[in-house]
Amino acid sequence: MVKICTKCHNIWPGGFRCPDETCRGALIHTDDARAQELPEAVWRNQRVDYGARRGMVFRFQAGVLAIVLGLYGVRSSVPLESPWNIVGIVGSLVGGALFYYVFHELAHRAVRVWVLRRGQLDKKKLTRALLNQKR
Ligand SMILES: [Zn+2]
Repeated sequence: MVKICTKCHNIWPGGFRCPDETCRGALIHTDDARAQELPEAVWRNQRVDYGARRGMVFRFQAGVLAIVLGLYGVRSSVPLESPWNIVGIVGSLVGGALFYYVFHELAHRAVRVWVLRRGQLDKKKLTRALLNQKR
């Protein structure tokens, strides 16, 4: 449950009064009608927060998956005849690292394009930005 302060617009995990000593504003649910009337900038910050967090979770999952795939590849390469076991082990490690890099990069771009710029780009520009984006 997430609540938003009506005075300082910070987000808190529940409660009735803002825990900030200097603020002490009333906290309301984010789906409260009064919350919907808060300025757009507040919601933009929320989207950025949640989007960045989603990107982080995605990157973490990609990392775990890359490790699992890499180790699985290494494990299944060991019983192969020389030199294929070496080729398989090195290939699995490089493949895992590459897999992680690709998904890490995708998450990075997705957060930048869909979260940070939502509402500012049309579909065509969005696709182009996704393909051409520099760090
Ligand atoms: Zn407050």
